[in-house]
Amino acid sequence: MKLSWKTILLWTLPALVVGFFLWQGTFATATGNIGNNTATTRMTYGRFLEYLESGRVVSVDLYEGGRTAIVQALDPELENRVQRLRVDLPANSPDLIARLRDSKISFDAHPMRNDGAWWGFLGNLLFPFLLIAALFFLFRRSNNMPGGPGQAMSFGKSKARFQMEAKTGITFDDVAGIDEAKEELQEVVTFLKQPEKFTAVGAKIPKGVLLVGPPGTGKTLLAKAIAGEAGVPFFSISGSEFVEMFVGVGASRVRDLFKKAKENAPCLIFIDEIDAVGRQRGAGIGGGNDEREQTLNQLLTEMDGFEGNTGIIIIAATNRPDVLDSALMRPGRFDRQVTVDAPDFKGRLEILDVHARNKKLANDVSIEAIARRTPGFSGADLANLLNEAAILTARRRKEAITLLEIDDAVDRVIAGMEGTPLVDSKSKRLIAYHEVGHAIVGTLLKDHDPVQKVTLIPRGQAQGLTWFTPNEEQGLTTKAQLMARISGALGGRAAEEEIFGYDEVTTGAGGDLQQVSDMARQMVTRFGMSDLGPLSLESQGGEVFLGGGLMNRSEYSEKVATRIDDQVRSIVEHCHEISRQIIRDHREVIDRVVDLLIEKETINGEEFRQIVAEYAYVPEKEQFVPQL
Ligand code: ADP
Ligand code: MG
Ligand code: ZN
Repeated sequence: MKLSWKTILLWTLPALVVGFFLWQGTFATATGNIGNNTATTRMTYGRFLEYLESGRVVSVDLYEGGRTAIVQALDPELENRVQRLRVDLPANSPDLIARLRDSKISFDAHPMRNDGAWWGFLGNLLFPFLLIAALFFLFRRSNNMPGGPGQAMSFGKSKARFQMEAKTGITFDDVAGIDEAKEELQEVVTFLKQPEKFTAVGAKIPKGVLLVGPPGTGKTLLAKAIAGEAGVPFFSISGSEFVEMFVGVGASRVRDLFKKAKENAPCLIFIDEIDAVGRQRGAGIGGGNDEREQTLNQLLTEMDGFEGNTGIIIIAATNRPDVLDSALMRPGRFDRQVTVDAPDFKGRLEILDVHARNKKLANDVSIEAIARRTPGFSGADLANLLNEAAILTARRRKEAITLLEIDDAVDRVIAGMEGTPLVDSKSKRLIAYHEVGHAIVGTLLKDHDPVQKVTLIPRGQAQGLTWFTPNEEQGLTTKAQLMARISGALGGRAAEEEIFGYDEVTTGAGGDLQQVSDMARQMVTRFGMSDLGPLSLESQGGEVFLGGGLMNRSEYSEKVATRIDDQVRSIVEHCHEISRQIIRDHREVIDRVVDLLIEKETINGEEFRQIVAEYAYVPEKEQFVPQL
């Protein structure tokens, strides 16, 4: 665990304070530990004098130099039993002793308990000492380590909180597959390089561009490429770095950043994850937003403060444009939005080309096949994929990356590390039936994506896996396809039930069922594919943590909620029945494939289809099964 000094300060201060009171408490009782520990009730001095007068006092013991007394007295209310009472005596009561002597009451004086006082004194000294030592230590750390963990105390001097690269060395050639975004940003390069072109005709150069897109799609890369192409310095900071413990730190960082940028104009400021500061003001529960609002206000002020033509362009990136404060998008601020989407097939092809430049690929490797197998991969995923493949190649001591390494790397990026297969056992058979269940339902349903391979080699969380080749070219997904997917996902559990019986079903289907519920629910609440009709009952996207999104939680009544649940259940039950029927009807071929799978551990889609075709009609599917 990494300890920052901020955390240490946060935790030690209360600890010290609590410690202090504990010490104090301890010593208070130590010095006040009067007499024989018997619990004593307190009595007022006046009552004591009354008791004295009426002759009820038996004995008096004086403590603490005569400031306290423990009195033994007969209590009339308790049948004259002797009671121990504690009395605080006034400072000057010299006649008391005389009176006691006169009344012949036995009295004694006890010395001060010095040892306790001594400890108390030391304890009192220790606390300030510890505090001073801790503060001293903290200040020293923060002064010695600029930009280091001592930041808590440097109050926004923003030492190295933003990075500056004089030359990014990245050009548009390094960014692939997002041509529209590149084209739009080409203009920004011109703004930075030849502002005269625009100012001559009276055009105001835009100040800010917002890059919107999922993580890993190349937003940072794109911003760097703009700076690289224009040959200007690149200042970057992440929105989360603005949000600090102390109010005002973020705002002063913004000021510093803009000050530095103005000194270096023309230049480019890149604010990553701007949603961390730029969230709608006033959203969120409870306090704690002051700091963020101040930071955001400062950012807005700075953006308004400089003229559009000073040669500073701000590029911000986010994957949640919906939560941004509308003030950020006003003209004169981030008035341009550029969407950076996850790449399509062609985009992936180009990105793979860029990242394959410095890698040795065997001749049989076709970049196209890789691009086909990786729908939904972002640029970062693809870069990672090729790197994984290169690592595997080196580990296997090969000359160049072959299809085998690519294939393994894809599996690994999608499903995690490969584990060791189980030895032949009942649970291995069960897993085999489960996977073949998925595969056969997927193969026999016309609208399901084709099987790519079935394997019993565990990966990540999964004990076995059935891979399908998604066909993304068609763009939209039909209701029939969704139903087929749900049935396919239920195929594993259906096989367990049909072959081993209800009592033997396993937890292995947990993930499948999660997917099934999600898909079915979306069909009902988002796509209007149920008896509830074409209603959109839930918006896309998860909740925004603390802020936005909270207010529109229930877009429907309790009654509708019940109906949604009913519809979801009826979809799932229908699909479940379909897959159970398929399993029941094809028991023979399932048994055969399971035996083969246990023997070979992996069966590819082609082979699987051939075997199934001997027993049943396998519908033709439009497919781009890459030869991997
Ligand atoms: P983001 O900022 O959108 O999260 P990054 O720009 O940090 O994504 O991308 C991370 C890495 O992924 C880049 O350094 C690059 O290697 C790779 N990458 C992402 N998108 C692309 C792309 N369009 N072209 C080439 N490489 C890309
Ligand atoms: Mg980034
Ligand atoms: Zn499964």
